[in-house]
Amino acid sequence: MNYCKLISRMFFAAVVHAGFLQAAAQEQVPKPPRMTPEMTEFWEPQVPVVVPGKITANAAITAPSDATVLFDGKDLSAWTDKDGKPAKWEVKNGVFTVKKGAGDIQTRKLFGDFQLHIEWMVPGNITGKGQARGNSGIFLQGRYELQVLDNYNNRTYSNGQAGSIYKQTPPLKNALRPPGEWNVYDIIYTAPRFKEDKSLLYPACVTVIHNGVVIQNNTEIKGHTPYAGLPKYSYHGKGPVKLQDHGDPSEPISYRNIWIREI
Ligand code: MG
Repeated sequence: MNYCKLISRMFFAAVVHAGFLQAAAQEQVPKPPRMTPEMTEFWEPQVPVVVPGKITANAAITAPSDATVLFDGKDLSAWTDKDGKPAKWEVKNGVFTVKKGAGDIQTRKLFGDFQLHIEWMVPGNITGKGQARGNSGIFLQGRYELQVLDNYNNRTYSNGQAGSIYKQTPPLKNALRPPGEWNVYDIIYTAPRFKEDKSLLYPACVTVIHNGVVIQNNTEIKGHTPYAGLPKYSYHGKGPVKLQDHGDPSEPISYRNIWIREI
């Protein structure tokens, strides 16, 4: 056998061998298991409790002059359901309340970077436990959930309690007021940026002040916030503020005094 033929046969054998190896490798690599919700929940460390300051009479902060008012106690004209039809949640006595089964509602207007002021309350006679107790949520740009929940003396997983970026980052402190009292979120949000090819350039960041206490400090948002599975980014432009109808059996929660400033 001449040298060229030997090389040729060795090359052929190597290709065949590589093919077998590849086939064997493909057979041996197990499929990753389907993710369950529990895989992205962590309970330790617990978030320390801090008692927020009191709201004194008439201390509500109304919208500054350059804000877009999303709710001032009158109606839900700034909001729609997911299909763009008028929002069906109930407005009464200057607040609106989640209507179970009516679905999430979202702002007509879309936003990029913003400052959002929003107040929420669960009723004093709330029942339920864990995640099934006053569960709602504020979806930034319709995608990234800042959790709303009554976990005042109600243990749940740390990265699922009020003020968490859901299933990602727990709040720095548990600054909840008890059921029957209003909670205030002031949210400063920087939207993610995407490259021309629509891949991520840099992620979204958020700072949240809850009842006067910083609970998220320029926190990087790792992607969307699913119940099961890992966060990931997909390209988007401006988005609405969306409020969650979680549908749990406890008493529904109410919102009031909502305004937003584009920054
Ligand atoms: Mg929620």
